[in-house]
Amino acid sequence: MSQQQPAAAAGGSEAEPQADGSLPRPGKEERAAPGAKEKPASTIPTLPPPGLPLAARRALASLSAEVSKSPRRSRRAEDGRLGRGHGRQKKKNNKRAVTVDSSKAKTSSEALRICIQQLKWKEFPTGRRLLCDIYWHGVSFHDGEVSCSGQVNKYPGMTELVRKINFSRAVRTMQELFPEEYKFYPRSWILPEEYQNFADQVRVSKENDSSWKPTFIVKPDGGSQGDGIYLIKDSTDVRMLANLRSKPVVVQEYISKPLLIEKLKFDIRLYVLLKSLDPLEIYIAKDGLSRFCTEPYQEPNSKNFHRVFMHLTNYSLNVHSGNFIHSDSVNTGSKRTFSSIVAKLSMRGYDVKKMWSDIITLVIRAIIALVPELKVYHQTYIPPGKPGPTCFQILGFDILLMKNMKPVLLEVNANPSMRIEHEQEISPGLFEYVASPVDEEIKVAIIRDTLRLVDPALKKNCLQQSLSTECSAESDKEETAEAEAQDVTETPSNKEQNLAPLCLKQVFPKYSRQFGYLLIVDRIALLFIRFLGIKGTMKLGPTGFRTFIRTCKLSNSNLSMASVDILYIDIARRWNVIRGDRGESGMCFQAFMEAIFHLAQRRYKSPPLREQVEALVNFCEYQLEAQEEKIVLYGRGTAERRSSLAVYQPEGSRSGTINHMHLLNRMSTSNKLPASSLPTSVDQQLVNSISSRVTDCSPAASFNPNGWDNLGCRFCRNNNQSCSVMGLKDVRSQRVKLTQILHPSVTSYFM
Ligand code: ADP
Repeated sequence: MSQQQPAAAAGGSEAEPQADGSLPRPGKEERAAPGAKEKPASTIPTLPPPGLPLAARRALASLSAEVSKSPRRSRRAEDGRLGRGHGRQKKKNNKRAVTVDSSKAKTSSEALRICIQQLKWKEFPTGRRLLCDIYWHGVSFHDGEVSCSGQVNKYPGMTELVRKINFSRAVRTMQELFPEEYKFYPRSWILPEEYQNFADQVRVSKENDSSWKPTFIVKPDGGSQGDGIYLIKDSTDVRMLANLRSKPVVVQEYISKPLLIEKLKFDIRLYVLLKSLDPLEIYIAKDGLSRFCTEPYQEPNSKNFHRVFMHLTNYSLNVHSGNFIHSDSVNTGSKRTFSSIVAKLSMRGYDVKKMWSDIITLVIRAIIALVPELKVYHQTYIPPGKPGPTCFQILGFDILLMKNMKPVLLEVNANPSMRIEHEQEISPGLFEYVASPVDEEIKVAIIRDTLRLVDPALKKNCLQQSLSTECSAESDKEETAEAEAQDVTETPSNKEQNLAPLCLKQVFPKYSRQFGYLLIVDRIALLFIRFLGIKGTMKLGPTGFRTFIRTCKLSNSNLSMASVDILYIDIARRWNVIRGDRGESGMCFQAFMEAIFHLAQRRYKSPPLREQVEALVNFCEYQLEAQEEKIVLYGRGTAERRSSLAVYQPEGSRSGTINHMHLLNRMSTSNKLPASSLPTSVDQQLVNSISSRVTDCSPAASFNPNGWDNLGCRFCRNNNQSCSVMGLKDVRSQRVKLTQILHPSVTSYFM
């Protein structure tokens, strides 16, 4: 079987999207980070460094213990000293094959089997009594019993979230906050719920622009493979109105000027790996499939509305057209590789780099829209602190290129077909599955490289590495994840099996700097999860909502607790009706989002919504942080304070969060010490750690031991004396806190 090579246009050349959409040359980030390679076992410290968080220390301790206990491991460490070649040989013999339970793989079984063989892993096609490293589910997370460990190739809730209505809602939320960034998804309405809105908006748009002659595509929720889809011209279409009674649909603006090849409409099936939710890690396959219509395209009119082979690119429909061409070549036929299309477009002079950059941008933004609610599902089904599997998932993105080469997202599939055979009519009416070289080339590479990326050996290496290097700073995280992606070629399975370079390219966190600002809904999800209370529920009860309002100090003279209760009942009830939730009562995440938007608009009068919401979330997070600090400051025993002082290490010995943890611990002790007894560097670090939150809006602000005048507020961009978000009182309370730490004797003066 041929190994998939990276597509010229998509592969190495596809780098960081720029402000203008162009792609720069691969830079530092493209190269493996120095020191990212697997370290010999002997370099693992036997004693956990004292400053590490407890969980990390435990993990490192158990790893170290394993290293010293296991004869196999210690032999390996010795091998390392014997010389590279010899050591590798031994490693090969000792390596335990990764185990994969494929009993629920369904139509992916064939492709999965090939991948497992290529990787020399061990497959359990009928399941296994003992635990496996990886569980491959064909449909959803719930295909099998939820394992208490290992990895599952599906996230709980993904299937529900990418259903047409839910996905449209998630994108709509982002469109409200970031209208420019989310234009890649066609304008959509959820019917019957938004029928009036749909009718009104179409009427107004037509009145404003008489040349606008739109077509709409109607898609039943939960439909797939083009089932039940039809085109309409107007909101008064009789067929649509009649169907509305039976099931909800998404009505979407129809893209009437798609890019054509050989006069045919086609779409792109692109595969995306969501490798991790927290931290977010996204990979995009460098090649995908292009699925062609089987009848020459014409712009929609009432005469051709019903011609599915002209308007719908679904393989499952077109395969039944007499014009469908099965081809063994990846460059011809009704299903081709996307790279063959890219090559064709490039030869015609199209800017394919820009196109790739736009596609990467689209994928990252779409995933960012999905992730917040996915986290809500995740904490419900796999509560933190309880045993459970880790998840990853391959998603199928259906993308249409418009005539101007702009990509449009049609939908995301939680369960893209991984079948590597296709249906062929061998005699009239008699169909049979025969091998499909195009499917095999693309899909086997994607599954195999997904497995390579989630290889447990790689994870272990990374854990050891991250613990031994104490990586914790935010900037380091990006480097580490990047190194992990690059370093995958260095894993035992890659080295030993001579595998091709990865066909999956990491795009997040690699490009997190450009897209991080979109994660606002993610922060709202974290607030929601925090107040959910009892694990296992996905709805916030009235007490949880009240606690949220109280803890975040959102009620004031303008928002009494009585009006908070009314707000809760009003929004929660409406959403339960919209979603048809008759079971569990309470406020779902979407309803909470609506409440947040409402509170933000009420508290901060001047739009845009994005800034109002951001200000509210900042405010809530600030209040929560302040509470936590209070707990650290006042809630610790003296003995603990002493011990935290004892483990304190001088400036520069640690970085990032670890330092911050120490500083927080130190805060509690400093009350007891005269400021003069602290070394200056400690003073400065203490102040930095706390005042960074207070001063980061004011570039000129810095710690001034003689006065507080130049300390600003993190929420106020312009005025560092008082601000509309926190109010002067809150700014002052931060200053008091700093004073308590550094000048305990003068605290009373400020109080
Ligand atoms: P399904 O899940 O049933 O396949 P899709 O949303 O993928 O539903 O739509 C099926 C097909 O209809 C797509 O493959 C595409 O060819 C066409 N299509 C869907 N939405 C649009 C649109 N907004 N504009 C143009 N064509 C579309």
